[in-house]
Amino acid sequence: MRRPLVAGNWKMHGTRHSVAELLAGLNAQQWPEQVDLLIAPPALFIQQCREALGSSPLQLAGQDCAWQAEQGALTGEISPAQLRDAGCQYVLVGHSERRSLLGESDELVCRKFAAALASGLRPILCVGETREQRDADETADVVGRQLQVVLDRFGVGGLAQGVIAYEPVWAIGTGLTASPEQAQEVHAMIRARLALLDDEQAQQVQIVYGGSVKADNAQALFSMPDIDGGLVGGASLNADEFGAIARAA
Ligand code: 13P
Repeated sequence: MRRPLVAGNWKMHGTRHSVAELLAGLNAQQWPEQVDLLIAPPALFIQQCREALGSSPLQLAGQDCAWQAEQGALTGEISPAQLRDAGCQYVLVGHSERRSLLGESDELVCRKFAAALASGLRPILCVGETREQRDADETADVVGRQLQVVLDRFGVGGLAQGVIAYEPVWAIGTGLTASPEQAQEVHAMIRARLALLDDEQAQQVQIVYGGSVKADNAQALFSMPDIDGGLVGGASLNADEFGAIARAA
């Protein structure tokens, strides 16, 4: 009943030339019909992607957005309304690289989530624990806290207008994937937490996994009952591999 979703987060990769090559490779893929598919290129390349993708089923996402919906005096920021105007349907908020390297707080991430919704974008709320937090048995607390700010403001119904991406920080870019069982455990915990508040909405919300998803582990991860697809970093820069991951969903 939940549609799978596979998203490629290109992070800070690409030049006009390499993006053109990647887009040609993506346009040569066979995409599954029953999967929501999106790529999040650096904002500079959104226009180039939109033009090259034409009628492709791949939708566009921003990698981040400002905490206010409308344009204004915020040097260097991009508003969610501008992303929407550029052709995006989604935006990542609270990616762990921004939380840890730029100090984004749960409150700021929640304001970005709100601004995205107000602009008609679907926010993809990224949550996840560090290695130290996992070792200290704090995963449920950390992920619970990251979700709670948004739940307090929007409830499960508001959260379900977006997507949740569980990305354990220790599995991002490290080649260390959470095992399907480890990931499923956290996904089920998230859904159970939401179900306590609103079971019907909790069953609808898409919860995707991110952290070293590759063509050779995607199927095992996506076959778990509460894993509704993936947020793919490094492997999304290879069109054939991203295509294979999408077809595994
Ligand atoms: P990797 O797939 O490169 O581990 O990155 C995951 C990620 O952070 C996606 O947002």
